[in-house]
This record gives sequence, C-alpha cells and structure tokens, in this order.
Amino acid sequence: MDLEGFRAALGDIPVEDNPRIVQQKSRDHYWYSPRLKSQLEHVTAAIVVSPRSVEEVVTVLREAFRFEVPITPRGAGTGNYGQAMPLSGGAMLNLMNLDKVISISHDRVRAQAGVVMEKLDEATIEAVNGELRFHPSTYRMASLGGFIAGGSGGVGSIRWGGLRNFGNILGLKVVTCEAEPRVLDLTGPDILKVAHAYGTNGIIVEAEMPLTAHYDWVDVLVGFDDAYEACAFAGQVALQDGLLCKEISPVAAPVPHDYFNRHRPFIKSREQSVVLIMAAPAAMPALADFVDFHKGDMLYRGDEAAPEVKAKLPPVYELAWNHTTLRGLKIDPTITYLQTQYPNLEKVKWAIDTFGDEMPMHIEMTKFDGRVVFSGLPIVRYTTEERLEEIIKLHEANGCLVFNPHRFTLEEGGMKQTDRAQLAFKKEADPSGILNPGKMIAWDDPDFDFDSGRTWLFTGLYTLGAA
Ligand code: FAD
Repeated sequence: MDLEGFRAALGDIPVEDNPRIVQQKSRDHYWYSPRLKSQLEHVTAAIVVSPRSVEEVVTVLREAFRFEVPITPRGAGTGNYGQAMPLSGGAMLNLMNLDKVISISHDRVRAQAGVVMEKLDEATIEAVNGELRFHPSTYRMASLGGFIAGGSGGVGSIRWGGLRNFGNILGLKVVTCEAEPRVLDLTGPDILKVAHAYGTNGIIVEAEMPLTAHYDWVDVLVGFDDAYEACAFAGQVALQDGLLCKEISPVAAPVPHDYFNRHRPFIKSREQSVVLIMAAPAAMPALADFVDFHKGDMLYRGDEAAPEVKAKLPPVYELAWNHTTLRGLKIDPTITYLQTQYPNLEKVKWAIDTFGDEMPMHIEMTKFDGRVVFSGLPIVRYTTEERLEEIIKLHEANGCLVFNPHRFTLEEGGMKQTDRAQLAFKKEADPSGILNPGKMIAWDDPDFDFDSGRTWLFTGLYTLGAA
C-alpha cells in the first residue's frame, strides 16, 4: 500500500487525516454487539476521502487500485454489523456528498447514493405525493446507498417485503475498482450482485427506487397483559388486507415501560406488552374496532393526541427495528440483541416460553416472499459469549433462522452460504480485492466450511496490531 502516492494522486478531492475524526468515521454501530465491540474497537482507517461527484469516485477508485489502498465505502455509518469498518485500514470512502435527487416521476425516483432517505421522501412527497416503499428506522440519517448495500428491510416491509425482493430496487449505477474503473448500470437480476454486498464488489453512486402512495401515517400503541397475546394480535393485524399499515411491531414487557421514556405516560405498567403500529388515517376506525375485538388496550393514537403532546414524542418507527435496541442500550449498556426469524406464532411462543426475561421478545411483522413472518429483533440480557452462542444454537435447532449480528461478514450475518453471483461480480469488478476487505469470506477463504460451526477469522484484522 502506498498511501502517500494515493493521496498525491487525488488532487483537490477532500481528504481528512485528523486521527480522531478518521477513527470516528471508521466506526458504525458495531458496539451493539459485545463481541464485535471487543474485536473491532481498535479498527481505524488512515484517511477519509469525500468525493463530490461520480467522476471523483472514479478517480479515487482508479488511484486506490494503482496504489493498492484498501477502500471501505461509508454512508452515514449506521450499520450494525461493522460492515462499514475498515478491517485492513486504508481509506474510508465517504459517499455522503453524492446527495442529489436526479429525477422523480409518479411511480419512481432516481437519486445519488448519499442522499438521506427522509430528505428523499420530502422531495417525492412534495413532487408526486409518493414515498419510498420502506425504510430503516434510521430514516432520518441513513443514506440510500448504505441501505441498499448494508440494510435488509424496515418500516414498510410488512407490505413490500425487503430489498432482496424483485421490484424493490429498479436500477443501480455502480463504479468498479480496476485499473480503469467502469461505471455500470445494473438492472434486473444484476442488481442482486451488489444489493446487500456491503460494498465489497462495487460502489453504488445512484439508485432508482419505486414509490408508493404517501400517507400521514398515524402512530398507535396498543397494550396487552401478555407478550404472546401481543404477538398474536400483531400477527392478526398483519393478515388484514383491508387494514393499511406500514409498521406492526409487538414488544414484550418490560421493554416498553423501561426503554420508551417519552411514551411511558401512556404505558400502564412494567408488565404491559405493547404493539407499535403505523396505520393510514382511513384505517383507523377499523383498526380501533379490531383492537376492541381482540381485547387490546388502545394506549395512544396520534390522530386523537393533542398537537403539543404529539410534538414531544419520537415517531413510532424510532421505537421499532433497531431503535428498540438503541433505546435499551441507552438505559442498560449490558444488553445486546439477536436477529431471528420465527416461521409462525408457535415458534414465537417457544422462544418466549424458553427464554423469558433473559430474551424479552421484539418482533417486526414483515412479508417474506409473500408470507407474513415474525422477524425477531429480541433483546438479550447478555451474560457470556458462550450463553449467546447457546441461545443461537437453540434457535437454529428449533427451526428458527438467526442472522447473526455478532459477526462482520456477509455470510455469517446472512444465510451462512456463499453468494456465487456476488463473488463472481467481485472477481470482475474488484479483481485486487481493494473494496471492504474481510467482509466476504468466499473471497478470502473459498473453502471455508460454514457448517463447521467455526467462527471465521480475518487475518487482515490481526495485522492491524489488534489484541
Ligand atoms: P453505512 O452504515 O454507512 O454502510 C452500510 C454498508 O454499506 C457498509 O458495508 C458500507 O461499507 C456499505 N456502503 C455504504 N454506502 C455504500 C455505497 N454507496 N456503495 C457501496 N457500499 C456502500 N437496517 C435495516 O435494514 N432496517 C432497519 O430498520 C434498521 N434499523 C436500524 C436502527 C438503528 C438504531 C441502527 C443503529 C441501525 C439500523 N439499521 C437498520 C442498520 C442501518 O441503519 C441501515 O441499514 C442503514 O440504511 C445503513 O445506511 P448508512 O448510510 O448508515 O450505511
């Protein structure tokens, strides 16, 4: 690696080398995981490069290839798996300056990768009263490119599934990392080569996304005395095609009372479990009837709250997804979480009965290949790494998938198998392995046996003088 040669070749492209700022920009939200925290605490890049145009991204990648400088792409750095952390040092590629909205029509939007999703929706709502089909709960700070490269789904996924589902991304403009970088327009199945690839095989500079109708979604909290009843009710709401909801999330006691500080006045006790819902205004009368029918307790509904009360509350989506965990970590830094999938309510009941208060249940109702599934983000009261591994193994032995958030690689954080299309594209688009080193096991260790139960160790992490 020739960092000085690389820097000199960048001309007037902004470069940051203040060690404190660089270390800050070398982090994401890896600290949700005690294991990643200990493994990645020391990781930092040497510099941060902030291109202002696609042409400058091409320059950075051409020179990185020439001077063999590892490049870790970064949006807002809100990923949770250490995806945006530079395991081999080198340079962070900050994409947040590429934040232009390029075109809006009634059913789609094209924008640069660094645009913040809330800002993007502001533009599409104003132009065509349309909005992104779904977004992460980090909506107000996360970038579109970072979501596509590192996210999975979110608020709205109960109606639209996730980023990997055909039709939820219409096109990507990607820059390769070669002697002469190419700017490629990916459509159709080619999109999946780069979607959720952690930026290991191409830098997303633009995306075209479908839009759906925008509503002034109504925030709702419904109380139940029992976590299982809350999950059963959420499952029923999710099945009501006539109830237009964007978010349905049951959260087991005592999490709502203990962690949702500003909503606590509406939550009746530590023993109350709560279902978080965002519903279209027209759905509210039917939803209220449905709550009564299921003997739920309508604790809060934004369409009837006084404006000055509403103004003091965070949006419901910032109680959900990994904001639930974040709110917990602010109160009790010893907790962590898992990312699971329960195929049905019986498996949710198994988990609630098996782990009780060691793992307070938190579910995000999502659609997965057309089926309503219980996507879990349960809180875990962390004791030891061995116990965490045991909880994961018990899930897998009982037919519940775990997308392990305590690993930084694509495979271990996903389906524990090589994505052949992504590996093949990396060989073509990043032949020297410059992009986000250490995040694709199949690149570094093609023969790794995922069934061995062994944890994969990236040697590059240890050459950085790690513990
Ligand atoms: P970063 O964290 O900066 O990057 C994410 C990954 O993409 C990294 O691997 C990075 O190297 C790569 N990358 C970034 N930009 C590019 C680019 N232009 N081209 C190629 N690669 C790139 N995720 C969800 O899916 N759903 C949720 O609901 C959700 N809720 C969250 C709640 C909280 C409180 C937190 C902390 C995280 C949550 N996340 C969620 C994870 C994360 O916020 C989202 O995935 C977010 O969209 C990532 O965007 P970002 O700009 O922060 O990306």
